[in-house]
Amino acid sequence: ASKKSPAQTIFSRIIEKTIPADIIYEDDKCLAFRDISPQAPVHFLVIPRAPIPRISEVHDDDALLLGHLLVVAKNLAKKERLEEGYRLVINDGKNGAQSVYHLHLHVLGGRQMGWPPG
Ligand code: 5GP
Repeated sequence: ASKKSPAQTIFSRIIEKTIPADIIYEDDKCLAFRDISPQAPVHFLVIPRAPIPRISEVHDDDALLLGHLLVVAKNLAKKERLEEGYRLVINDGKNGAQSVYHLHLHVLGGRQMGWPPG
């Protein structure tokens, strides 16, 4: 996790529960909640509690945490009945179209996705 204390984001407030979110899962390391502007019939975000700003700033010792986020995403995709498949996305920085600088894994499903992305 980042050693500096990064700027507060809307996601820190969701973690602190000072603003509401449709939280579908939480544990000691992460939480998952539905995206406020869903881009697919199922669209939720899995985020670490640690305020890591972006994937390009993770440290070597974040490897277990990152693996955990992927396993949680997979478990929730199963729970959401996305057996026909789904898309996992991490946007990084300006060119990646990242808008919230608290690391998050998008899980999108319930429709056919296109490739390559725009
Ligand atoms: P990014 O573009 O940074 O990868 O994605 C940020 C995502 O967070 C967007 O899909 C956006 O709809 C979602 N989002 C932004 N603000 C909020 C919020 O306050 N609540 C929820 N649930 N999602 C949000």
